[in-house]
Amino acid sequence: MANVPGGPSTRAIHGLPHAKADRDPVVTPIYQSSTFAAGIAATDEVLYTRYGNNPNQTVLATKLAALEQADRAIFLASGMGATALAHLAVLRPGDHLLASEWIYGGTHKLLTEEFGKLGIDVTFVTPDNPRNWRHEVRKNTRGIFVETPTNPIMRVLDLEPIADLCQQQGLVLLVDSTFASPVNFRALEHGADVVIHSATKYLNGHSDVIGGVVAGSEEIVEEVRRLMQVWGQAPDPHAAWLVERGLKTLAIRVARHNENGLAFATWAAEQGAVDVVHYPGLPEHPDHAVASEQLEGFGGMVGLVLKGGPAAAETVLRKLRLATHAPSLGGVETLVSEPRFTSHAHMSVEERDAVGIPDGFIRVSLGIEDVEDIIADFAAALHALS
Ligand SMILES: *Cc1c(COP(=O)(O)O)cnc(C)c1O
Repeated sequence: MANVPGGPSTRAIHGLPHAKADRDPVVTPIYQSSTFAAGIAATDEVLYTRYGNNPNQTVLATKLAALEQADRAIFLASGMGATALAHLAVLRPGDHLLASEWIYGGTHKLLTEEFGKLGIDVTFVTPDNPRNWRHEVRKNTRGIFVETPTNPIMRVLDLEPIADLCQQQGLVLLVDSTFASPVNFRALEHGADVVIHSATKYLNGHSDVIGGVVAGSEEIVEEVRRLMQVWGQAPDPHAAWLVERGLKTLAIRVARHNENGLAFATWAAEQGAVDVVHYPGLPEHPDHAVASEQLEGFGGMVGLVLKGGPAAAETVLRKLRLATHAPSLGGVETLVSEPRFTSHAHMSVEERDAVGIPDGFIRVSLGIEDVEDIIADFAAALHALS
């Protein structure tokens, strides 16, 4: 399936191009059916929506594989479902996993609260230097998990040295690349074995579906599908249909998110009330060089630290009219959140400080509105501080 021809827009719209028969619907119909008639005494697998073989699920999976240039992909009920099953597909009791310290809070919970019960040991590694990984590899290490770009300070990891280490040591490299979407970064092309997305974010793009994706080799994705059946992580056909619809505009949406992200970050960096702007497209970002080399766009996520701390953040959040205060990201509408109450609520103030998320940090998910209007909204809110 890898090496599907065409650019990202074509692959997102068509998957594997094929000629249609007369009177075929142009759009995949919604097969809102839990089960399908089966041949009597037939030996092939029955169609049953929890098995992941409903046509809405399989058509979408083909497009997702084409987008990632993966052998195979699968759509699941949530990003967390995708993360959990991707790991369970490669780890066994007694195995050891190295995980980046800079990861989504839900994933952190999964690794710290659940994996121990399954006999899987996890060591967290600060990924700011590729050498840090090698020191922690043990005899029973099976895999490395990272997120790039990271939430919410938008660090961009250089995957190549980590992928080299995995190759040398026979480890599986799993990458959550939700923040980039396959338009800005395709981790498999940089040495990852498995790529994970929360489809809830950019892939669907309209803040109306929860879903997840795992893409990689035939063998690993087949194991994820087997686990999906028994752990009950299959998505509803309507959710699959909505994500297939969202995907058709993924490339143009992400192009606009990239433009808005850069314009907003550049503006924010010039504002007196703003202390730090975290955006990999700015030359002062610590990973600007890696991001320029590896990403095809810097994305729509911007982190702001206000000089006035948490009180200033509260004032600004109360004043915004166009940007909505809500968790999540990657939709057409601009959302703002404070990581201390959402994704990083599990950490102490000191722990957050140490990773660059002081109280007063605002995460902005730039939507695809006209950027002048988003900037005007923030300008009015910052004005309330003076
Ligand atoms: C949102 C998110 C998840 C979890 O996805 P859900 O669809 O909410 O289950 C995982 N990783 C990252 C980076 C996310 O932003």
